[in-house]
Order: sequence, then C-alpha cells, then structure tokens
Amino acid sequence: MGDFLKGISSFRGAVFPNHSAHYRKLAREGQQPHALMISCADSRVMPETITQSGPGDLFVCRNAGNIVPPFSTLNGGVSSAIEYAILALGVSDIVVCGHSDCGAMKGLCHPEMLAPMPNVAAWLRHSHAAYSIVCQAYPDDLSETDRVRAVAMENVVVQLDHLKTHPSVAAKLATNEITLHGWFFDIGTGEVQVYDGALATFTEVQEGEPLPVAITGRDHPHVMPRVAATLGGE
Ligand SMILES: [Zn+2]
Repeated sequence: MGDFLKGISSFRGAVFPNHSAHYRKLAREGQQPHALMISCADSRVMPETITQSGPGDLFVCRNAGNIVPPFSTLNGGVSSAIEYAILALGVSDIVVCGHSDCGAMKGLCHPEMLAPMPNVAAWLRHSHAAYSIVCQAYPDDLSETDRVRAVAMENVVVQLDHLKTHPSVAAKLATNEITLHGWFFDIGTGEVQVYDGALATFTEVQEGEPLPVAITGRDHPHVMPRVAATLGGE
C-alpha cells in the first residue's frame, strides 16, 4: 500500500495543480460525460487510458467479464449505472469493452476452475451464450488462446443484446438518441478492435475514418409511424 500512498501524494502535489481549474469547474458544475463504458474489472484494462479520457469524460462501470445482466433477471449495480447514465446524465453512447486474456472468459471455458467461486460461476451465466456460440459455431481445433479470445468477442455481442432489454436503452434506441458500441482491447498490442454491427465482425480502428458502431436507433425504430400510416388509411 506504500506505493498507493506515494501515488496519492504525487497526484496531489504534481498532477492536480496542473488541472486544478478543470477539477474546480467539474466540482462546481457537475459531470456531463457523453459515454458510459462497461468494461472488465481486470487491472490491465483501463478505460480512461485506452481512450485517453480525462476527469468528467467517461462514466465507467466495471465488473468481472464486462457483463450486462438482462433487465428482467437481475437488478443491481450494472442496471443502476445504465439507468443513471441514460436518464440522469443523458449519455449518447454506451460502450461494452471486452479484452484479451480475460480471466472471466477463461472461467467460462473451464467451469471446473469456478467450483470454489459460486458467485463468479453464477455471474458468468450471463455470458454462457457466448461460450455456446464458440463451442457450436467455431472450429474444434482452436488453440486455448484463440478460444478464450473468441469467447471474449462473442461475449461483447451477447452483452450488447442484453443492453437492449433495459427499458431506458430500448426507449432511447427507439427515438434514435443513443448508439451502442462493442470494443475489444488487446492487452499485448494495445490495439482496440471495434464491432461493426452491419458486417457482424470486429475491425481495427483507423484514425480519420468513421467509427464503426454496433447498434443504432435506425436498427430499432419504434413502430408508431407504420401503425399511424395503417390507421390513417382506413
Ligand atoms: Zn476480463
């Protein structure tokens, strides 16, 4: 813990003074982040570092496996963070960020590892669909590393689907006020791959090109205009 104390002291003495005006403004006016990022609790995955964001930029919710429980099955910290980010802070984007060498995804691939951790095992049920997809639809001869990587990528897509079950997300998608993103961070290379919902694949991010998105409001419009057209034609 001595290193932490040194860090706190260094932050207070050397870092904070250079940004004190910005912190004072945030303290006075409150936060207005544009995005919610749901990432893994893994110590090697740092949302602010990956995106080079500063204080006030990102609303972050981290848990083992960057999981979003479907709305109907569990109410808890993730559901509350989503609701607050959308309804109180008005974020316009939600990012689900998975990563390479994820311990949670390894646990999914090796359930025997989870025997002494009943809470982790229960939590990872929200990712079981990702494991099933890889077992059924991917080649049998994948290396262990590639299998865990594939499960982590499929898990991002599964959690994006879960996001849509949350009423606050569904409503904002219907009015085209929110965009959902799926990212995959490679710890060893620092590369971030982005899920392109239109192509159903992860692609490398190219600076200067439009950022691929997973799900937009255009994919999930509400049915009222068509219902109204039907009613109008009586
Ligand atoms: Zn992880």
